[in-house]
Amino acid sequence: MEFVQPLLEWYDRNKRELPWRGEKDPYRIWVSEIMLQQTRVEAVKDYYGRWMSRFPSLPDLAAAPEEEVLRYWQGLGYYSRARNLWQGVREVAASYGGKVPDSEAAVRALPGIGEYTAGAILSIAYDRPVPAVDGNVVRVYSRLFCLAGESETALKRKIAALVAGHLPQERPGDYNQALMDLGATLCIPGKPRCDECPVRDFCRSFARGTQQEFPPKKKKSTVKTVELVAAVIERHGAFLLQRRPAQGLLAGMWEFPTVEIETGGDAAAVESAVGTRTGQQVRLGPKLMDLVHIFSHRRWEIAVHHSTMTVPGDLPPEPETRWVNRKEFPQLVFAGPHRKIAKTVAAQELPDGAVRGKL
Ligand code: SF4
Repeated sequence: MEFVQPLLEWYDRNKRELPWRGEKDPYRIWVSEIMLQQTRVEAVKDYYGRWMSRFPSLPDLAAAPEEEVLRYWQGLGYYSRARNLWQGVREVAASYGGKVPDSEAAVRALPGIGEYTAGAILSIAYDRPVPAVDGNVVRVYSRLFCLAGESETALKRKIAALVAGHLPQERPGDYNQALMDLGATLCIPGKPRCDECPVRDFCRSFARGTQQEFPPKKKKSTVKTVELVAAVIERHGAFLLQRRPAQGLLAGMWEFPTVEIETGGDAAAVESAVGTRTGQQVRLGPKLMDLVHIFSHRRWEIAVHHSTMTVPGDLPPEPETRWVNRKEFPQLVFAGPHRKIAKTVAAQELPDGAVRGKL
């Protein structure tokens, strides 16, 4: 295809400087691609640097305990990505002698690796001609060829087939990255910067002036709001914390006892629900803060209350519940907004001169 060469030449002159750019180690490419899912490039840079200082090679990550892996991920969100990465790396260590396999079928079989990530790893690390179609590439190709699809998946599939036919045998990884960079810097959402575009002469939507019609708009997803109360219960400088279930949202992370409430639910109902959850009789005290946390399909609105234990009881076997001294907070992985509560609580209560742990 005629635009392949101009695009590669533009990439050679203009590629973004990224910490993982030029990397041929499949493990490092794997980590960067997983971190970049649903996270901005700027935010990932620091995390990637810290991660590589602690887990510079695949065996380092495979040998690390899960809790530590999650701690290095803390703040990036979508923790199932970190868990899958860690499990995948352990699988590579156990079944492939620590070398990431170079076949599409084997890479796709690893946890957390979808079509895009497999394409990125195989094309960049191993120069395999496999497309890596992310949102940027969808935007570029759908504008280049004025493409729509019956669904997002159908459009992506159509584009993957086209990209596969255009990938140059000698530089497939660079071609995939050139498309990503073009989508991230010039063929941007909203108003693209067509004047500077290296493939403008080949772009159908530019010729027709219809760039902003592509890709077709996504239907808005409905976000459900859930109202919650989190109880900060302290006893002799330790706080009652619970672990979330091993499956589902923020799986396995620690939180202050939290209950869902009906709109307008009264304090007595909340106290009873917290009591059932923790095995203690509890009285809600003054509000410490309000927090909002937004997931892709859910919005948590959390009222955080200081609470007192009126009658101590046995800790329940499920969910896992512990009294935790604030000095131990840095060792725990807190669920999303609970990290902020822990930070506030730790900062408020530390005696003068005490060293504050970094959460
Ligand atoms: S000409 Fe404009 S719309 Fe077409 S690929 Fe380039 S930046 Fe995108």
